[in-house]
Amino acid sequence: MLVGVLVELSSKNIDKEFDYKVPKSLEDKIKVGIRVLVPFGKQTLEGFVLEIKEEQKTEYELKEIKEVIDEDIVLNKELLNLGKKLQEETLATLISCYQTMLPKALKAKNKMVVNKKFDTFYKINEKIDLSKEKITDKQQILIKKCQDEGLVLRKELVELSAFALKTLVSKEILLEEKKEHYRLSYDKKIEEKKQLTAEQEEVVKDILEDGQNRVFLVHGVTGSGKTEVYMELIEEALQRGKTSIVLVPEISLTPQMVSRFQKRFGDKIAAIHSALSDGEKYDEWRRIARGEALIVIGARSAIFAPLENIGVIIIDEEHSESYKQSDANPRYNAKDVAIWRSQYHNCKVVLGSATPSLEAYARALKGVYKLEQMPHRVNGKALPVVKIIDMNEEMKYGRGHLSRELISSIKGRLEKQEQVILLLNRRGYSSFVTCKNCGFTFKCPNCDITLTYHKSSNTLRCHYCGYGEKVYSVCPKCKEKALSNLGMGTQKIEEELGKCFENARVLRMDYDTTSRKGMHEKMITAFKKHEYDILLGTQIVAKGLDFEDVTLVGVINADTGLNIPDFRSSENTFSLLAQVAGRSGRSAKSGEVIIQTFNPEHYAINYSKNHDYIGFYQKEMAFRKELKYPPYFYLVNIKVSGKEANNVLEEALKIKNILGRSLTKTIILGPSSAMIFKMNNIFRYNLILKYKKEENLRKVLEKILDHYKNNQKIKVDIDFNPSQML
Ligand code: ADP
Ligand code: ZN
Repeated sequence: MLVGVLVELSSKNIDKEFDYKVPKSLEDKIKVGIRVLVPFGKQTLEGFVLEIKEEQKTEYELKEIKEVIDEDIVLNKELLNLGKKLQEETLATLISCYQTMLPKALKAKNKMVVNKKFDTFYKINEKIDLSKEKITDKQQILIKKCQDEGLVLRKELVELSAFALKTLVSKEILLEEKKEHYRLSYDKKIEEKKQLTAEQEEVVKDILEDGQNRVFLVHGVTGSGKTEVYMELIEEALQRGKTSIVLVPEISLTPQMVSRFQKRFGDKIAAIHSALSDGEKYDEWRRIARGEALIVIGARSAIFAPLENIGVIIIDEEHSESYKQSDANPRYNAKDVAIWRSQYHNCKVVLGSATPSLEAYARALKGVYKLEQMPHRVNGKALPVVKIIDMNEEMKYGRGHLSRELISSIKGRLEKQEQVILLLNRRGYSSFVTCKNCGFTFKCPNCDITLTYHKSSNTLRCHYCGYGEKVYSVCPKCKEKALSNLGMGTQKIEEELGKCFENARVLRMDYDTTSRKGMHEKMITAFKKHEYDILLGTQIVAKGLDFEDVTLVGVINADTGLNIPDFRSSENTFSLLAQVAGRSGRSAKSGEVIIQTFNPEHYAINYSKNHDYIGFYQKEMAFRKELKYPPYFYLVNIKVSGKEANNVLEEALKIKNILGRSLTKTIILGPSSAMIFKMNNIFRYNLILKYKKEENLRKVLEKILDHYKNNQKIKVDIDFNPSQML
């Protein structure tokens, strides 16, 4: 017997199958999709069995595999093919694709030993005729329990009578069975489905009755009851004996969301998220592979869950950047993977959002996806009233970072014992120049993204196209000498809050305070119980949370997001504002939203005032068309990196030349230094391609990758449809 093995060495030049002989003693254990240990040069490596082949004559002697690692298959046929598809689409190595698809505990690099724990159970031996046995009363009690319950935990029987148990086992009336003890456990289902509203019913019906298994886009305002619609679709799949995947962005994989699914579906769910230990992830993965968990809820990588028989795939907060893996190969988008898997399983994909990505909405308008609208909140309440505060005006009063309006509004809520959420948009970089007086920032005349400040040359540069200009000291807009390369001091804002509301109980929530396991959940519960008055946090407070007493949401610095040098900065800002506004007034009390900005005229801010997604969409689409951005054009980011800056730039220019000669319908920008130019002593340049249709593209890119695969000094990575270009 011969096997084709893909070894776990993530190097482009050995990313292919190697043939090995299988010793007779291991033949029984060999299956496609398990891992084996093989000799490779002087090393012993792990690898995946991709093929079982017929014995054949070869010129040289083949080596033998050393050991079989898995009893059960880790990559079934669908997942083996999915990995190949992933490889073709992202041009990453095949081995990196398989590694991405599996939990860490199954990766060779991770020499961690994950212990399995077992519990002992007993069951009735069906082969024994009980009427012919002499059975005591005590024994009868144990037998009855096993008859009623099927499998009974050893501990429970010992409590009844250790002696009777021993006898029954020795007479083989009860049989022992070891079952794995998982690190996590889920409570039983405790909630029935809610009576759906007419709007929800309509959407569910429309999706279920659609004859085709295609992609649906549910555009539903915050609080319209999308989650309830997802649960209904999952329930329906369960009734057909099918499984489901629900993807949620990591940030909103709040305990609240998991707990809703858990209440409704009990221990049928498996929740995979970053707060789990590697061992817990491994357990969840096996529960899924064994068919013990039928509903998988998780962040991006949960799309690779080893489910069989998938009935529906749901992607909540479809617009979230977190579905794209952008920091490592393969640079894949979970939405694409969802669609490939749905084609294999012949099932539907449901994308949901209050602010769909432009790409998805454009596809829905073209009829590629089917659009489902949920314009009303379940509770019948209107969306909260949004007030925009012009901070340019506010500066005249010499106050700090909190406007008079926001301060008085917070005071009012506190007096009424209501709660407040304040969003401190911290995601920003100090490397852009902004006017402290009017909030003006410099933009690239070609790409319309914020220019990045380079200290060494005292210049502003565009990290898409490479455009550069000198830094002035006077603001071109307000003529004040107030330019600074620092964002707003967030510490200052906190101090100010403390001063204005001495008696208010402020809960601070961000990545630092919630990184410890269980903290996020604790904080949410405490705030929900009204142990705090004000929740101050970063983006983490924007999504998925549902608090009854919150009637005011304040956005302290709406501009931070607009200044991020990314063509999606308006889209991301609009979407964040809509999400955070959605936290206000979710119960009987009406809500209010106050947005502070130096750019009150900016359309991303203006359209969020009126909750006008369509208005925003149209305006943003016009901008994308004009500047040749998605969804009108596709983008590819070619990342060239290495230890010597000059050398990297030279090679990037060479690549640009090759591309220029072979691609006729593509715009090539750069090379430009990456946003974070030097990282861990590696210098990084980007080339950005914009194209509508370019038949040769993949072939040309593959050639370039091939050319550099043995180059120790230069690394080339490719990111198709990048979500951010850092
Ligand atoms: P979305 O995900 O669209 O923001 P949710 O699904 O979270 O909306 O629903 C908002 C709130 O309304 C939740 O508290 C949910 O429990 C409640 N809800 C949703 N559907 C119903 C329904 N049919 N009947 C009663 N309450 C509902
Ligand atoms: Zn530019």
